[in-house]
Amino acid sequence: MFYFDPLYFVFVAPAMLLAVVAQIMVSRNYSIGNSVGARMSGYAAARRMLDANGLYDVGIEQVPGHLSDHYDPSAKVLRLSPEVYHGQTASAVGIAAHEAGHALQDAFRYAPLVIRNAAVPIANFGSGFGMFALMIGIGLGIKFLAWAGVALIASVAFFQIVNLPVEFDASARAKAALIDLGIVDGDEIYYVRKVLNAAALTYVAATLQSILTLLYYLVRLGLFSSRNDD
Ligand SMILES: [Zn+2]
Repeated sequence: MFYFDPLYFVFVAPAMLLAVVAQIMVSRNYSIGNSVGARMSGYAAARRMLDANGLYDVGIEQVPGHLSDHYDPSAKVLRLSPEVYHGQTASAVGIAAHEAGHALQDAFRYAPLVIRNAAVPIANFGSGFGMFALMIGIGLGIKFLAWAGVALIASVAFFQIVNLPVEFDASARAKAALIDLGIVDGDEIYYVRKVLNAAALTYVAATLQSILTLLYYLVRLGLFSSRNDD
């Protein structure tokens, strides 16, 4: 049962290709955006955006790494990579404002974020044990276990789908705030948009990959059950 299946690659190849293209675009647009100067650092831009919304107690810390920027909802802290924290560039303020956008979503209970956070435990369990349950279920001919595996794999796809509005909304909040607060002008926002759109494409690729993986296993399970019936 653990053999190489070309059908798997037929299913997930489009998503893998899109993921590679998105990754190239992120690197390219990030470095282009880093050559465009901004009025302040990523730290200052995020601080202004948080303060403008009354989120004075959301902290901003520096975290090691490249593009390691994220918002930690349990600690209520933005963690920015050194380049974004200190950088006075379109890329730095764009990414910092995107992460501040997640802090705003958290503070104002943005519905897709609430749903996404609720789905995290089951999706984590699903990505760890879904495949395992499916393989054991197929191997031992336990249909219930196989379908439980599929349901767990589906929970991962569900998580990725709800994650999309969360990511798009954080970028929309970032672009609006950067202009409203006068942090970037009309020329600079073009480069901010390019960086954030490329980042969004990586999430689209991940979502596509999880949906196609689910479809693949649904087809395989269909094939297995019809073979058993013969
Ligand atoms: Zn994000």
